[in-house]
Amino acid sequence: MNMGNIRRALVVIIILGTIQACKAAPEGNMVDFALINGKVWTGAAGVPWAEAVAVRGDRIFAVGTTAEIRRLAPAGTKLVDLGGALVLPGFIDSHTHFLTGGFSLKRIQLREAKSREDFAARIAAAARELGKGRWILDGDWDHQQFSPPELPRKEWIDAVTPDNPVCVNRLDGHMILANSLALKLAGVTKDTPVPPGGEIVKDPATGEPTGILKDMAADLVYALVPEPSFAEKLEAAEASLRHAAENGVTSVHEMADAASFEVFEELARRNALTTRIHVYVPITEVETLARLRLKSPFGSPYLKLAGLKGFMDGSLGSATACFFEPYTDDPGTSGLLTGQMFPEGVMERRILAADRAGLQLAIHAIGDRANSLLLDMYEKAVAANGARDRRWRVEHSQHLRPADIARFGRLGLIAAVQPYHLIDDGRWAEKKIGPERIRTTYAFRSLRGAGATLAFGSDWPVAPLKPILGIFAAVTRRTLDGKNPGGWVPEEKVSVEEAVRAYTVNGAWAEFAESAKGTLEAGKLADLVVLDRDIFTIPPEEISGVKVRMTVFDGKILYGKD
Ligand SMILES: [Zn+2]
Repeated sequence: MNMGNIRRALVVIIILGTIQACKAAPEGNMVDFALINGKVWTGAAGVPWAEAVAVRGDRIFAVGTTAEIRRLAPAGTKLVDLGGALVLPGFIDSHTHFLTGGFSLKRIQLREAKSREDFAARIAAAARELGKGRWILDGDWDHQQFSPPELPRKEWIDAVTPDNPVCVNRLDGHMILANSLALKLAGVTKDTPVPPGGEIVKDPATGEPTGILKDMAADLVYALVPEPSFAEKLEAAEASLRHAAENGVTSVHEMADAASFEVFEELARRNALTTRIHVYVPITEVETLARLRLKSPFGSPYLKLAGLKGFMDGSLGSATACFFEPYTDDPGTSGLLTGQMFPEGVMERRILAADRAGLQLAIHAIGDRANSLLLDMYEKAVAANGARDRRWRVEHSQHLRPADIARFGRLGLIAAVQPYHLIDDGRWAEKKIGPERIRTTYAFRSLRGAGATLAFGSDWPVAPLKPILGIFAAVTRRTLDGKNPGGWVPEEKVSVEEAVRAYTVNGAWAEFAESAKGTLEAGKLADLVVLDRDIFTIPPEEISGVKVRMTVFDGKILYGKD
């Protein structure tokens, strides 16, 4: 028996098993609809490939050959002929700011602004549209787009925003540009004390704030921004859900605050969630959750409280990621630890408390020192509380010393990484941290080799909510500027299958949901995506152009034509 026959035999055994199980089920159609004549990557151990999937209710009823699935479907059952198209388990995006993303779909877009004039013109247009007095927010600007790259300044926009406070963020969310009006409202002057974990950038000549506020310093202005109404939040969340469906995303891990949980809870109550939401709330809530004796994950298949999200440091692009050695292009700094690290020892106490309470941790660490400090704390917690199935995560796991990559494996950690960041940051990362440290930057292959689990995500709206682009990025490592056609640090590329697994199977594992989703197997939730081209066989550089043809969520065709 060759491998193909063995696989087919296993498929038949599995199908017979499900038929057996269904004899006892009540009368009526066994199958609501089926996808046939496809190329189905199931992700299941031993039976990775099939041709067809039958769906009943919210579950996958059977997976097998087209002939087998046809036999299960009585006359009149809806059959969708895929004409050979590729089917994957629905994508699980393991790191989003999903509610924020919904707002960003509607607000001012500065990501593509390529010059001072362009930047100011977009802000001026927003001021006209919003009218006097309203805040201009979001933006997601990227100063690496300017030539030469330079941080924007309040003077660029003050003339066009005399009556609108401006608080627009860099796309990584780790710094903002405030205009003079916003600084005035916030009382920020050259004499304002710098909050720990933050920076007020000042003009070297005059000592005046330039308008750039980094990390914790941005809170001086954010504190004044009016909270959107609940109705506006619901609207934003609905926009996010539509956007997810278009991109084949059927589950997201939401790095959120308690307020956003309330929004998704309301949508769950209305049966309106068309993406499964797995919410991490700030680690500052650890005592509350511990008092409630709430073990994570807790909730329904649609909405779960996942655990706790913390922050060790900032970001590379804002030069606030915390390194052992100074930045190559700015030897005066080696980055910042965030406010959550102060007073000293508080992060470690919270990690220990979360562990005692049985709560999953997802902690942001970008610089090599931030990662190393976090691994120290994780090790101490394991030593103190003993072995158990923790599935702790390190969000971004971006710059790692080689010895720390091995520690990821020993601790069995989840590296929750975002491949799109690497083709974005890869344009300028070497300038910031030099040729040596980039060897172990976004080191996906090494992390996997060391035994860590890769869970892929987007960090939307920091990067596009498009798993296809994430897969393209992880497989090709081609930077957005086209300067690395063979891949940036190519030895860290992963295969298409590894990338798909990191967006499906591993995402499910990262949320303790591997028995319910992440693969296409009988009995699992019917979440799946159909692509218009076969990413396993086309040249990898063409993956970025692949489109989502259909998204099935919870047993319903949510997006696309059949
Ligand atoms: Zn994030």
